[in-house]
Amino acid sequence: MRPTPRKALAAGALALAALAAVSLPAAPPAAAAPDGAAPAGAFADGAASAAAVCTPAQAVVNGGFESGASSWTQSSTSVITSRTGQTAHGGTAFAWLGGVGSTHTDTLAQSVVIPSGCASATLTFWLHVDTTETTSSTAYDKLTAKIGTTTLATYSNLDKNTGYVQKSFDVSAFAGQTVSLSFTGTEDSSLRSSFVLDDIALATSGDTTPPADSVRTPAAPSYTVSLTSDAAGTVWTGHESATFTNASATALTDVYLRLWDNYHGTCAAMPITVGNVTGGTAGALSVGCTALQISLAAPLAQGQSATIGFDLGITVPSGADRFGHDGAFSFIGNALPVLAVKDGAGWHLDPYTNNGESFYSLAADFRVTLDHPTTLLVPASGTSVDTAGSSGRTITTATASRVRDFAWAAGPFSKISGTSAAGTPINVYSVSGISSANAQSMLTTAKTAVDAHSSRFGAYPYGELDAVIDNSFWFGGMEYPGFVLDLVSTTALTHEIGHQWWYGIVGDDEYTSPWLDESFTDYATDLALGKTGSGCWSSVSWASSAEKITNSMAYWDAHSSRYSTVVYGYGKCALHDLRRLVGDTAMATLLKGYAASHWYGVSTTAEFKAAAQAATTTDLTSFWTTHRIDG
Ligand SMILES: [Zn+2]
Repeated sequence: MRPTPRKALAAGALALAALAAVSLPAAPPAAAAPDGAAPAGAFADGAASAAAVCTPAQAVVNGGFESGASSWTQSSTSVITSRTGQTAHGGTAFAWLGGVGSTHTDTLAQSVVIPSGCASATLTFWLHVDTTETTSSTAYDKLTAKIGTTTLATYSNLDKNTGYVQKSFDVSAFAGQTVSLSFTGTEDSSLRSSFVLDDIALATSGDTTPPADSVRTPAAPSYTVSLTSDAAGTVWTGHESATFTNASATALTDVYLRLWDNYHGTCAAMPITVGNVTGGTAGALSVGCTALQISLAAPLAQGQSATIGFDLGITVPSGADRFGHDGAFSFIGNALPVLAVKDGAGWHLDPYTNNGESFYSLAADFRVTLDHPTTLLVPASGTSVDTAGSSGRTITTATASRVRDFAWAAGPFSKISGTSAAGTPINVYSVSGISSANAQSMLTTAKTAVDAHSSRFGAYPYGELDAVIDNSFWFGGMEYPGFVLDLVSTTALTHEIGHQWWYGIVGDDEYTSPWLDESFTDYATDLALGKTGSGCWSSVSWASSAEKITNSMAYWDAHSSRYSTVVYGYGKCALHDLRRLVGDTAMATLLKGYAASHWYGVSTTAEFKAAAQAATTTDLTSFWTTHRIDG
């Protein structure tokens, strides 16, 4: 989350004064609530041991065409060639689509197996385009690159270039699938364009299996949700089920559902209602009706799985909020009940905080079906497919893997789309009142941000990314997996996209250790925006001896005016200082390795400190003390 520039004005101004040398864009959020703040050490053991194996592999066979047509299907024997007129990027052969100058289609395809269990799968190829077309505005001749039925990119005579350029696409969403990689070149009736491809590769790397974790349970949840909305998209009813496994050596006798958005109502009029529980028996609501205990039908031994199901009702209140509707536009964050986490410290049933986040959950798979009026667009976490429903209605089916939550919006949005240079599809949904120039600017920002963070911390693994823009939010922005809410703000949007790694991919107990997501995300934001935090620590001024960067939301809810300054401002400055101490290269290697070792898992302050110490020969003991990083 990021506090609104408006709301954060006071805190932001203070932070600016205190951190004169730090460029502090839109300020961070305001405050948060406490909880039993489990000591990090309590669950440090057993956390993140060795992860499962992803064997890096290259899935395209004969991608350089040096073995002729082997493994490829081509529309004619003239596509894969080494004849004169074009040159290879490497070797002597290449694929030449088009170049005829009359109405014509060439195709080239190969079936590829993209292995599962890897964090990233990246398709790359080298492309040269030349043409005798003279237009600078019309795409007469085209080349389309697809994987399965998904179009990755379309090029045309307007993309003519000298020599080859490499194109790169994140195709990790297709992990575990056998799909057709295909290229189709079309020319119109006159003037030729040549699309020349070479050195096509699809490389996988990184592990997608969460680190072995016998401490946190219930593990590996899989949620199946089916909801139908009213005409306005503010009332949703249906069913949810959750299948999970007990990872702990201790038998699991009950689970807790978090009904977070009941914070936005009262126990007498709950926005989130659960009924007709199957697979267990519903117990009492607690923590302000945001937690529901469910006793399982039978104790679950280590490694055993169970499923609970329940009817679900969601009523979105009025308000431009992370759960609220701003006129016709509904924002539906934290509305789907998710399983609370039990670890060495017991169940984590922390209170909701409006100052930040309490949302601690394990990576899960979601399949969510949303039946809504066709007049409403429904951006959502994961990858969506729309099909026709009953008269005037559309069914959006969204699937998301290895995510900690699922959020969506509904409304008559304006939508624009694009693809980042590295291949992540981006959709920007704007409420009425957002200018097309601002929407375009946010699209550009999102493309740049997702690639910047990917290059530093590992490829963005969640397929498409949706940004929902409304300048009426009381905060700067709010993160959900593959889905962010934002003001028109370059800094806030870059920040929320950074959360895809820090909270999303690398999880943490947001209530106990908010700095692990907010400080790291603001540091990532600085890096993406070219800000160095030069000299920032010299202006740090602590409010008390109890104030620490690593304090829990329990502390910050009691000291809300200091949350943004310390956790965002001092926190990111501490990471800049750590970078200056260990060196830029060691810091970059540290963060990339730290992300990889916790990919889809959960980290703790103690684990970060250990990783940092392992990255340098400098004793960091005094650094942690000086920067008040405890744990
Ligand atoms: Zn944030």
